[in-house]
Amino acid sequence: MTHETDGKAVGKDFIRSKIDQQIKEGLAPATIQTRFPPEPNGYLHIGHAKAICLDFGIAREYGGNCNLRFDDTNPVKEDTEYVDAIQNDVQWLGFRWQGEARYASDYFGRLYELAVDLIEMDKAYVDSQSAEEIHANRGTLTEPGKNSPYRERGIGENLDLFRRMKDGEFPDGAHVLRAKIDMASPNVIMRDPVLYRIRHASHHRTGDAWCIYPMYDYTHCISDSIERVTHSLCSLEFENNRELYDWVLETLNLYPSKQTEFARLNINGTVLSKRKLIQLVTQGHVSGWDDPRMPTLCGVRRRGFTPESLRDFCERIGVARANSRVDYGLLEFCVREHLNRIAPRLMAVLNPLRVTVENYPAGQVEWFEMPLNPEDASQGNRKVPFSRELLLERDDFMENPPARFHRLSPGKEVRLRYAYYLTCREVKKDAAGNVTELVCSYDPASRGGGTPDGRKVKGTLHWLSARHAVKAEARLYDRLFRKDDPEADLAEDETFLVNLNPDSLVTVEAHLEPALAEYPVDSRVQFERLGYFRVDEDSTAERKVFNRIVGLRDTWAKVAAQG
Ligand code: ATP
Ligand code: MG
Repeated sequence: MTHETDGKAVGKDFIRSKIDQQIKEGLAPATIQTRFPPEPNGYLHIGHAKAICLDFGIAREYGGNCNLRFDDTNPVKEDTEYVDAIQNDVQWLGFRWQGEARYASDYFGRLYELAVDLIEMDKAYVDSQSAEEIHANRGTLTEPGKNSPYRERGIGENLDLFRRMKDGEFPDGAHVLRAKIDMASPNVIMRDPVLYRIRHASHHRTGDAWCIYPMYDYTHCISDSIERVTHSLCSLEFENNRELYDWVLETLNLYPSKQTEFARLNINGTVLSKRKLIQLVTQGHVSGWDDPRMPTLCGVRRRGFTPESLRDFCERIGVARANSRVDYGLLEFCVREHLNRIAPRLMAVLNPLRVTVENYPAGQVEWFEMPLNPEDASQGNRKVPFSRELLLERDDFMENPPARFHRLSPGKEVRLRYAYYLTCREVKKDAAGNVTELVCSYDPASRGGGTPDGRKVKGTLHWLSARHAVKAEARLYDRLFRKDDPEADLAEDETFLVNLNPDSLVTVEAHLEPALAEYPVDSRVQFERLGYFRVDEDSTAERKVFNRIVGLRDTWAKVAAQG
């Protein structure tokens, strides 16, 4: 487990340090302006949470503002379903953007005018090579590219062609608009990048108003500049794009937003890429974007993670410039830390073993008043029935236990949580030798969990009164992938999907104390000694469904070590 060494980040990260330095030198802008710029082509995932915490967090800490801007320049892959989900997720994480949500598509008109300006400055031209030709002439990391035969078209011809592209005179792929920079640039991105392409496709916001769409590199910097973004924070894969970002703004003499890159978040045992997450959904490997095994924000929300725990996680992992993988255990640690404080603790049995308390009067029922959280009296109490027939957890009994087994075994005495001491007198078995029932006795003097003679018992078990127990469904989730890096060491014909964990969902019947069955959907509770659970949306009036959020300890590390 790495979380034992991963304390909260010490000192400030390089981005905040840089802003502090700017402030000290009097070079900081009057107001820090950031933005979170998702492309609405899928649901947000935990990697986005890192970017969100950074973009919104920095704005908040420095008294600035953060915009939410949809980077919606690709009409083919984008959808309003995603726009709505993304807004919902950002708010759920606890952040509010400045004003209305913005859209790169709001700027299509301005982007077009600026492209015309570039043509007039002889800084952009219409290229009529095919996509394959453009690709082939791009050169390589070691060889310069080749100038397009259309590169020296006159400005007038370029203006005419670009207008006719916009007016829909040409089919997809007939022409593109390219920046005129340098086909020999050592930075391949600077080799006359494409700024506009023809796409006869309806856009989720602009409909059929446009049939040419601006490319990301051209759109992003100008959108930032229009919004007077001072610190444009993005993940490391955009490092080489920064030169183009600066080129566009400088050439057009626009407000000089500045881009800073930070490392992408990767987490062991999962994938953080919308493209791959879409595959899991469309191929039916999970029940949907919000399947509780998904690393999407709606997935972990349905699982039962709290926004507080995700923000805590993002704070602990910090912000660096080097890519790395974070142990999933750290995320679980953060979730446990929070749930330990807020979740009421009640009793449920997942794998029941019947117990008859031979000296307890048949037909008698006692109701024990128990705290919902012994560490937080403000959570109040609930009443739990006790009777002659009990259910214990099967794992809490061993007929021939090893020395350090402090739970129930023949002749051994244990404490039933807040109730009585119980001693195992007899083990009943079926023909195959399976334990079917225990006959036990209780000590009436131990009511409440202690005895007048002060004798010690080591084990305290959770329990239920059999006839009061309420049945429910428990969904026990585990890692979606069985490898830390699902994409490592794949054979040529394999994809990350071969590493799906076949046991990532195990459904069992749970037995609940009566009070537990009363919690509504979205409640988070601890099943004592078993883990944290959330009441799922699939619950019905007759039958509750509980998602296991996380166990009480890191069992995965142990299993993996035995591997
Ligand atoms: P994906 O590969 O999942 O599609 P993306 O980078 O294409 O991710 P965008 O919607 O373009 O997704 O991302 C919005 C913002 O979130 C960008 O600034 C991007 O840098 C950031 N981001 C995306 N994934 C991560 C991640 N794993 N770690 C940190 N930041 C991320
Ligand atoms: Mg993207």
